[in-house]
Amino acid sequence: MDKVLRRSILVTGANKGIGYGIVEKLLSGVTPYDIILTSRDVTRGEKAVSTLQSKYPKSPSSLVYYQLEVNDEKSIDTLAAWVQRTFGKLDILVNNAGIAASDSTDESARLVIKTNFSSVAKITEKFLPILSDDGKILQISSQMGALSAQGPTLRKILERNDLTQEGLKKIADNFVELIKIDSSFTSYCGSKALLNKYVRSILSKELKPTQQCYSIHPGWVRTDMGGSGGQYSIDEGADTPVYLINLPFEKNDELNGKFIFKRKVVQW
Ligand code: NAP
Repeated sequence: MDKVLRRSILVTGANKGIGYGIVEKLLSGVTPYDIILTSRDVTRGEKAVSTLQSKYPKSPSSLVYYQLEVNDEKSIDTLAAWVQRTFGKLDILVNNAGIAASDSTDESARLVIKTNFSSVAKITEKFLPILSDDGKILQISSQMGALSAQGPTLRKILERNDLTQEGLKKIADNFVELIKIDSSFTSYCGSKALLNKYVRSILSKELKPTQQCYSIHPGWVRTDMGGSGGQYSIDEGADTPVYLINLPFEKNDELNGKFIFKRKVVQW
């Protein structure tokens, strides 16, 4: 009998919120995966894993834990090396970890840009060499990253067709100065706008012809970040990411390289 091909999936920032919801939905589903739940805090991450393992003892999927602080390059390298040793390759990378600004200081804005954009791009680049030939990359973005949610200065920059990865990095590095020129957007909106531009203009072109990437708006979800007034449950917020994960591993030109909400392509 043929060995069943189990796809490996890594989710960042999955000890709570939407990341946890994605792992839970996968575990409760019928498709067998090897799932790697990561978190920056080991205690919180291991607790999430043991809670999920007790809740789904009969899941066809396996669940393991590994620590990842997304803003620490050494932590990313250690995890990528472990994934390669353990699974040989990675089939699906879900960059979910993210933060909102804690206050209006420059320091807070820099951390938002780093966590939500620069580190996501870094993790993506570090995993590309071990992404399987038909692998998928899911970037959890936000509607707040849509071009229409940005101020005129950033929108004009992001509408340029000649922006390179180096150019995007420079914008991220100088983001705090940009907000001072045009205060009509925030570090959170800007971080997700940079992420969208990265998916649309750089990553989607850099991937092998059979690999795919997506930017996803999960909706306004009731999590610690979204607050209790959010429109959607965590399970609903996890729906589109899990839908994209479960789609056949064949090139889907309608969705590849696009901005997706409620399983449908939306305007960047
Ligand atoms: P959440 O409940 O606050 O969870 C965020 C997760 O990211 C937590 O596990 C957190 O870990 C982790 N994280 C933050 N900084 C990290 C770092 N430096 N290294 C590793 N992990 C880190 O937020 P959420 O609502 O689930 O958000 C998940 C994603 O959805 C984010 O990218 C967010 O921008 C996006 N999103 C959310 C909404 C919404 O309405 N909730 C809407 C649009 C987009 P700790 O527990 O250790 O802090």
